[in-house]
Amino acid sequence: MYIDRILFPIVSLGIHKRLVIWTAGCTKHCKGCANPELWDIAGRKDRPVKAILQMIANLHAQQTIEGITLTGGDPLEQPEEVLQLLEGLQEITEDILVYTGYTMQELENLWSPSMLERLRKNTAVLIDGRYIEELNEETAVLRGSCNQNIIFLKELYRAEYEQYLSKGRMIQNVYMGNQLISVGIHHRKGV
Ligand code: SF4
Repeated sequence: MYIDRILFPIVSLGIHKRLVIWTAGCTKHCKGCANPELWDIAGRKDRPVKAILQMIANLHAQQTIEGITLTGGDPLEQPEEVLQLLEGLQEITEDILVYTGYTMQELENLWSPSMLERLRKNTAVLIDGRYIEELNEETAVLRGSCNQNIIFLKELYRAEYEQYLSKGRMIQNVYMGNQLISVGIHHRKGV
């Protein structure tokens, strides 16, 4: 599986202290994408899902991971790997938020019923659709643009997420090595 980075704890991409996984690879190339450096997988290491799960389990043994967010890149451009990852992560937490540039309708046309079932069973919240720069509004909390949908696949989490959404967008600055990176949903470029 192509992964660019994993950070913990992050509070700006979902409720509680989350582990956030940025996958690499996206063919959608939305104008104004926040992470164009993650589009290309050339030269990147293809890591076994088992090794990623083990690394996360080791971290969880030391510090409780309260939720997990998958973003990218488009995690769902690696369907079999991401489904295995989602299944393995259930032992850590069932609060898993997945971003994808596909709409749910596109997924329903592209994926088999069994793949969709695995996705629905192992994802708490799905945020779907391409990023449309002109629709990047402050009201789109947890979303890059207003066209994207927040789909609650596990109703259990709806109330907590709705409370989180009511607080507006959040940005968290974290160090990755010597590099300071800003995590969250940002304003449109140049605004
Ligand atoms: S789908 Fe997401 S990662 Fe892919 S180009 Fe669009 S905004 Fe960027």
